[in-house]
Amino acid sequence: MILLSNHFTEIKKRFTGRKVAIMLDFDGTLSSIASTPQRARIHVGIKKVLKKLSQSPHTMYIVSGRSVADVKKKIGIANVTYVGNHGMEWEMGGRRKTIPLPRTIKQAIGKAKQKLRIIQKKFPGILIEDKQLAVALHYRGIRKTDAKSFQTQTASLLGELTRDEHLKIGKGKKVFELLPNIAWNKGFFVRMMVKTELKNMAQKDIIYIGDDQTDEDVFRILPKALTIRVGKNKKSAARYYVRSLQSVYQILTMLVSRYPSERSIFRNSADQR
Ligand SMILES: [Mg+2]
Repeated sequence: MILLSNHFTEIKKRFTGRKVAIMLDFDGTLSSIASTPQRARIHVGIKKVLKKLSQSPHTMYIVSGRSVADVKKKIGIANVTYVGNHGMEWEMGGRRKTIPLPRTIKQAIGKAKQKLRIIQKKFPGILIEDKQLAVALHYRGIRKTDAKSFQTQTASLLGELTRDEHLKIGKGKKVFELLPNIAWNKGFFVRMMVKTELKNMAQKDIIYIGDDQTDEDVFRILPKALTIRVGKNKKSAARYYVRSLQSVYQILTMLVSRYPSERSIFRNSADQR
């Protein structure tokens, strides 16, 4: 992985006058990781820049593991496509869409919610996040003395809940979730966009920033894009990494000041004809 700040000047040059698609994860990318998911807040400076970007010719996507309703509330900016539940649902141009799920999977999610609530009663400090299409359990707040028995009990529960193969387990930072066991993730969503909404855009004009395991599914399918991981990780497929939200802020600010003027848009579209 390459530290992005060492190449900032050339990246700045590369994006001058280019219209790009900006895709951003939320937790840990636009907000600091908080003690609970409810407490996570968008970085104040980043919010201002996002607002400007949403009014620029660039195309914006927020690609989160949260539900669309939740992440939309956290960001609160119009003219952005909100993608939730790791790509299983999205809101684009005011229209909400969801990947269709078989009834057996929906029932399995319902059952998983009930079972996780039982675990929650036994261990204070854990949180259940009902995301409709999935259910997550956050254990950042667990008491140290409970850690061992929590681990044993959840391991056996997860085994039970995934036995009939309707659900699979997803892992993130101090969170695991039960998800529909379908071949779909953030990467599938982005690939769908690349083939449809973004089909006239070169891959090198896509920027994706994320901080976690679920973002790796996107990094892998975009080898030519500007892929950035927040936090260094040797196994990451992202081309660059940054050390903090401050760097995310810098990159986004660079894109605000670099978006094409009316004249250069006209020139670019003339070139394509
Ligand atoms: Mg994240």
